[in-house]
Amino acid sequence: MFGKILIANRGEIACRVIRTARKLGVRTVAVYSDADARALHVEMADEAVHIGASPVGESYLRGERIVAAALATGAEAIHPGYGFLSENPDFVDQVTAAGLVFIGPSAGSIRAMGLKDAAKRLMETAGVPVVPGYHGEAQEIVLLASKAREIGYPVLIKARAGGGGKGMRRVDHPDDFSEALSGARREAKAAFGDDRVLVEKYVDKPRHIEVQVFGDNFGDAVHLFERDCSAQRRHQKVIEEAPAPGMTPALRKAMAEAAVKAAKAINYSGAGTIEFIVDASQGLKADRFWFMEMNTRLQVEHPVTEMVTGVDLVEWQLRVASGEKLPKPQAEIALSGHAFEARLYAEDAAKGFLPATGTLHHLKFPDAAPQSAAMRIETGVRAGDAISPFYDPMIAKLVVHAKDRATALGALRETLALTEVAGSTVNTAFLAALAADADFAAGDVDTGLIGRHQGALTAIPAPSDETIAAAALAATDAGAPGAAADPWSTLSGYAHFHPLARRIRLRHGEENILARVSARPDGRFQVVLEAPHDAVNTHDLRTMPHTARWPGHVTVFEGAVSYTFTVPDPLAKADEAGPASGSLRAPMPGLVKLVRAAAGDAVIKGQPLLILEAMKMEHVIAAPHDSVIAEIAAEGAQVSDGTVLVRFAEDGQG
Ligand code: ADP
Ligand code: ADP
Ligand code: MG
Repeated sequence: MFGKILIANRGEIACRVIRTARKLGVRTVAVYSDADARALHVEMADEAVHIGASPVGESYLRGERIVAAALATGAEAIHPGYGFLSENPDFVDQVTAAGLVFIGPSAGSIRAMGLKDAAKRLMETAGVPVVPGYHGEAQEIVLLASKAREIGYPVLIKARAGGGGKGMRRVDHPDDFSEALSGARREAKAAFGDDRVLVEKYVDKPRHIEVQVFGDNFGDAVHLFERDCSAQRRHQKVIEEAPAPGMTPALRKAMAEAAVKAAKAINYSGAGTIEFIVDASQGLKADRFWFMEMNTRLQVEHPVTEMVTGVDLVEWQLRVASGEKLPKPQAEIALSGHAFEARLYAEDAAKGFLPATGTLHHLKFPDAAPQSAAMRIETGVRAGDAISPFYDPMIAKLVVHAKDRATALGALRETLALTEVAGSTVNTAFLAALAADADFAAGDVDTGLIGRHQGALTAIPAPSDETIAAAALAATDAGAPGAAADPWSTLSGYAHFHPLARRIRLRHGEENILARVSARPDGRFQVVLEAPHDAVNTHDLRTMPHTARWPGHVTVFEGAVSYTFTVPDPLAKADEAGPASGSLRAPMPGLVKLVRAAAGDAVIKGQPLLILEAMKMEHVIAAPHDSVIAEIAAEGAQVSDGTVLVRFAEDGQG
């Protein structure tokens, strides 16, 4: 076993690897960027090396700096985590050339699977079923369009260098092909520097089922059963589970055999995942699955496999990379119970899953697993940490395990309901709605499920009068530590305005709310909401919903749903911070990719005005109302959070 390893990653996966290394008595070296100077993974590691500025191109993607850090600290091996350099064969070459061990497959294996088109050709030769489609070299638009017609619509255009669902477009009709192709190419070029694509048959009622494989350096390879990752939005996984619901022994056997065959075809060593697309339109059939791609690394959702097999995959990675044989033969790897993983993201589900940023002023996970289940919270952040625009906005993975699917799903819902995040928009309510969805609960999943139910899954009811009252009360700081004991003292500072009462102004979305909070002699609080609410609520602090007070805001938690109110500073000048209805601001830092309107144009509500590329995704910025454009950002402009992208002429709006 190694004495010391370096982890070339950040966030939850760096923390995850450090934990296992420590268990095995292996010392750890973290690397970090400017933004991560005080990050959790830095604190957890035995040593840490600063490798550059915050953008990934200046830090976590700088292979030479990472190798230098390993050499300087005496680390013998490098664990790449996932993302970043994990599937970069040139980095593997750099690592081995420096006399270090790469904890993962050989550069050759990664190259063989790195490009989806070449991987598909290779798998065809190895006798693994692949999705019907065109994966050739030629890229002329006329040729691609004719291939699409041959394959038969609907088709899927994919970046051959793709990953994370980027550079992918489903096309239902030949008329839309060329526009979709440009979109896929643009996104692929930006994300991977390679705009070549393949075209595939879009599989009917598709389910994403993948098989975890593991190989060693002695030619042996095993599988650790399957994971179902069909719950997706924008081709990105949301909730994963193991085993796949409704899996049949025949399909499991066929998929596992194909996966091991694929791994052996490239002499695979270490942890890998073979992703298959399954046509579930006639139930799960042993001849209706096809190879999609291989991820030559540890996968984000690996914990569900660990939960159902009892195997620590990171431990296996370290053992195999240090020259040991596979810790267990196939016959000793068994499946037990059911596990779910939900990805908690800083994002706005209702706004098309727009990534969000912010400081996690309040962050609380349940302390213990719900009854009859096991729970694992994988996170790389703690309260007070920021979700910056530089990296993936994942906050945590909530992982549960129980004896069967229904019990595990119940445990997931409970875990979500007890999770509290304030300071950034998060997808907790969306995850909870999905976990409660009738089709999902029945195991009737396919990759279109979230899209079909999107409205219901992302709808957040308006806050009730009780919620508003709780927010108003929290805004007085009545619930603050030390204040609860004596409601009179909390409010007494305002006695010269109104005896023992305080007027609170709140804003929720576009709505301004006025509340009057007063302390009652019995120790309870009365909250009077003014029109249009006209409600009176009496609160006992002990039975109030949980709230979090953070600079300028109050968040009220009601199960997995949370409501955030702005509490305007009463001393601030008239509405400086108010939403500028005459302009559109960048919701996050990014690059203005395409501008489709000009100053002087009359535009209608919903009309796309420009495309902002942020966090590697394209976001369409549309007109919020009929108006005339006074000013619009320039194509190619790099904008920061809150920069005005479009200014409308005054007379264009009400
Ligand atoms: P898949 O490649 O099948 O989508 P995963 O979901 O496990 O498998 O991981 C996707 C990859 O893309 C990972 O390497 C992860 O680091 C990266 N990734 C996931 N989400 C994002 C994102 N929002 N922005 C940038 N990279 C991402
Ligand atoms: P990435 O590298 O971005 O993960 P994949 O090839 O793994 O790309 O595809 C991502 C997702 O897109 C899959 O999980 C699946 O939901 C969907 N998908 C991919 N190929 C097909 C297909 N041929 N038919 C239907 N859906 C597909
Ligand atoms: Mg994939």
